Amino acid sequence: MTRFTQPPLFLFLLLITCIANAQNDTKPNILWIFSDDHAFQAIGAYGGRFESLNLTSNLDSIASEGMRFDKAYVGNSICAPSRATLLTGKHSHKNGKIDNRGPFDHDQQQFQKLLQKSGYQTAMIGKIHLSGAMQGFDYWEVLPGQGKYKNPEFISEAGRKQYQGHSTDIITDRALNWLSNERDKSKPFMAMVHYKAPHRNWIAAPRFRERFKTMTFPEPETLFDDYQTRGVAAHKQDLSIAHSMRNNWDFKADRWKHRKEFFENTKLTGKDLIREKYQMYMRDYLACIAGVDENIGRLLQYLKDEDLEKNTLVMYSADQGFYLGEHGWFDKRFMYEESFRTPLLAKWPEVIKPGSINTDLVQNIDFAETFLDLAGAEIPRDMQGKSLLPLMKNERPDDWRDSLYYHYYEYPGTHKVRRHEGVTTGRYKLIRFYGVDVPNGEEWELYDLARDKHERANQYSNPEYSAIIANLKQELQELRQQYDVVDIPQVTKNKKKK
Ligand code: CA
Repeated sequence: MTRFTQPPLFLFLLLITCIANAQNDTKPNILWIFSDDHAFQAIGAYGGRFESLNLTSNLDSIASEGMRFDKAYVGNSICAPSRATLLTGKHSHKNGKIDNRGPFDHDQQQFQKLLQKSGYQTAMIGKIHLSGAMQGFDYWEVLPGQGKYKNPEFISEAGRKQYQGHSTDIITDRALNWLSNERDKSKPFMAMVHYKAPHRNWIAAPRFRERFKTMTFPEPETLFDDYQTRGVAAHKQDLSIAHSMRNNWDFKADRWKHRKEFFENTKLTGKDLIREKYQMYMRDYLACIAGVDENIGRLLQYLKDEDLEKNTLVMYSADQGFYLGEHGWFDKRFMYEESFRTPLLAKWPEVIKPGSINTDLVQNIDFAETFLDLAGAEIPRDMQGKSLLPLMKNERPDDWRDSLYYHYYEYPGTHKVRRHEGVTTGRYKLIRFYGVDVPNGEEWELYDLARDKHERANQYSNPEYSAIIANLKQELQELRQQYDVVDIPQVTKNKKKK
């Protein structure tokens, strides 16, 4: 009897598997690679002063084989709030994570929960910077808080585990392990591989540390910006290379002998010292980028080897941009371009034409809806972004947005960037600084990026721009209504000071 029943059962199972595989062929996989504080200026594909270093060949290949977004922005330029936006598709005031301090409500709607329900295998590996147990992931293994570069601990449903090695390498190892051995291969996957690098304190893996030892990097045009036309926020910030970069933290001078000796013995002062600190900063920062790029190569190779390349969207972005000496700064937070913008590259051979460049206004509120859209899942009405899928197909909708809303909340706080909100149309940017430590409680700036790409000339008092300012104020009001910015939340009190 067994001889008689086995073949039909076997054939039946084979048929089921074939049908499942055929369905999966139509649903794309998503490999969402992400990093922390990666400035677009440090990616070769974006051009700029580091292009000739050829430092990011794997990232550049995502751009050349796919699409480079040139006007990709965040809604709140700081780590944890940015990540809350990625998961929820909502601005900070709606998902409740307005600063790095307060808790994130994991019970709320998030795109990965919906993807999982629609039949995807979901994974989050690396840095998420949202404390508490992740939800909606078949597998998650995340760094606690900021995480460590060397021999980092990870948290998963199984508890805490420490790995030996460098965080960028280990995050890739863990991701490849899940992709190769752990996932249910009968289902499409959405894997978030999110690196800690190049977040400060910029410790690259040992094999990259000496890479730029003798190199001198070009300086940005605004390294010695005097903020002449700007308000109190630019003058009173605490993120300058000159004053805010701490020798024993940002430069590891307490642990690295040659750095310690430099700071103890240097005769450099003023601009010369700033210049040397900028060079050290770039050596460390770019060495971290080299590690990220090498590891992205490993992920891309996996897709090739497994014949997954054609039907996988590979997307690369960061939680915000970063100042690499522009305006004399490091860090982020401001609505000025270097930190407001974020890199965004996407490759998907079946859909995206190689070498595409998109210049539409896109924002990190769009990512969640993009993933749901390409998975064919329903997009909840209360998400606040727009799917990027039509842009990837080069089918720009006529009603695509023509302005973006921004809001930074964390003041008083680290780096002393005053609270501000603003609107940009791509060409014009209107910023309203407000609240504590802003003269008369409110201060405005206007930039015309077509004439002033480095945002050195605040035109708010220039009568030539009065009509433009009036229009932008109206636009800002409309965006507040659209995104339901009613009560501006208070900043979360810093626990340490309690
Ligand atoms: Ca960040």
